[in-house]
Amino acid sequence: MRYLILGGGPAGIAAAKAVRKREKDAAIVIATEESASPYLRPLLPDFISGDTDLSALADPQGEDLGPKEIEYRKGKRARKVYPGGSRVIFEDGTEEGYDFLLVATGGKPILPVPLKKPLGSILPFDSLDDARRIRDRANRPGVSVVYGPGYLAIEACRVLRKAGQDVIWLKPGQPRFGNPIAGEFEASVINEIQNRGVLLKDGTDIASVAEADGETALVCTSSGEEIRCGMVVVATERLPSTQFLEGSGVKVGTGVIVDDYLRTFIGNIYAAGDCAELVDRTSGRSRINFGWRSAIKQGQLAGENMAGGGKLFIRKQEDYLWLLFGTSLLDRSK
Ligand SMILES: Cc1cc2nc3c(=O)[nH]c(=O)nc-3n(C[C@H](O)[C@H](O)[C@H](O)COP(=O)(O)OP(=O)(O)OC[C@H]3O[C@@H](n4cnc5c(N)ncnc54)[C@H](O)[C@@H]3O)c2cc1C
Repeated sequence: MRYLILGGGPAGIAAAKAVRKREKDAAIVIATEESASPYLRPLLPDFISGDTDLSALADPQGEDLGPKEIEYRKGKRARKVYPGGSRVIFEDGTEEGYDFLLVATGGKPILPVPLKKPLGSILPFDSLDDARRIRDRANRPGVSVVYGPGYLAIEACRVLRKAGQDVIWLKPGQPRFGNPIAGEFEASVINEIQNRGVLLKDGTDIASVAEADGETALVCTSSGEEIRCGMVVVATERLPSTQFLEGSGVKVGTGVIVDDYLRTFIGNIYAAGDCAELVDRTSGRSRINFGWRSAIKQGQLAGENMAGGGKLFIRKQEDYLWLLFGTSLLDRSK
């Protein structure tokens, strides 16, 4: 059998290994758009603050892919999936066939219109490349604007402050995807962040961003305030990365809709991790994952099931959502 896995994050790698455990002679290819070797995304904030260096970012899960004969292809961004012909076309014009396909493409930060401009000072907070750029800019003392409603914005504020930046947090009232931090717990974390000197502007959106000299951005807020800063870090919610599935027949809601086996409506296509949307039949509610460890759990299960495991996904919410990696959020901010 030939297994093609789109996305080289924790879900994709865990799935590949689970397949290998069950099928010794399967051909397994992980194709991912990034140019980096597997790395620990949750440590990116500490990389920005300088608490973690590049070598400590390597994902131990990714270390033995070669010996397990799992091919890890970098720079491969899926453009289109053709379930009829069981093949995927990539942005570089190449194509790849499969018997089973796993979509494990994670999420991407939502970019509101004013932040879609190709300006050097607007920096999404998502990948290792993003973190490198943010770290470089944070080396220059000055003001950083963080834009986002929840967890990633809190993390961005924490580490930019630690790196010596004057941080202004613009916290818009945006929808949150399956992200349960809110209420009292979130309030105490935000309190800690403010105690560290982060200036919070709650309910404030960005109306426009302009750049004068390639170095400094001028942010105009929805309330008419002007802020001059060295960068705008876009730390918004991660919306499942699924555009390449358009027209494929794979059903997509907010994420790729899967059943209790992590299977889509097309029998040999599965989805796992932050891009998957699990619909709970009893409550009718659907959930988008956010969390490193739960992405691994989902990936493992999808891998086993693609290779004939037939296992039901555990229905407990905490088993597929928000199983954090590392220390608790509140401890981080202290
Ligand atoms: C800055 C940051 C900090 C975080 N901190 C924590 C934390 O402390 N604890 C925690 O539990 N979680 C944390 N998370 C969330 C955690 O990283 C995710 O839940 C986890 O990485 C999801 O794993 P995944 O395999 O589903 O997707 P991802 O890790 O997102 O991997 C998906 C991969 O697919 C690639 N891809 C996307 N589209 C395509 C395409 N069309 N073709 C090919 N490849 C594609 C992406 O570039 C990416 O490399 C953090 C996330 C970020 C961004």
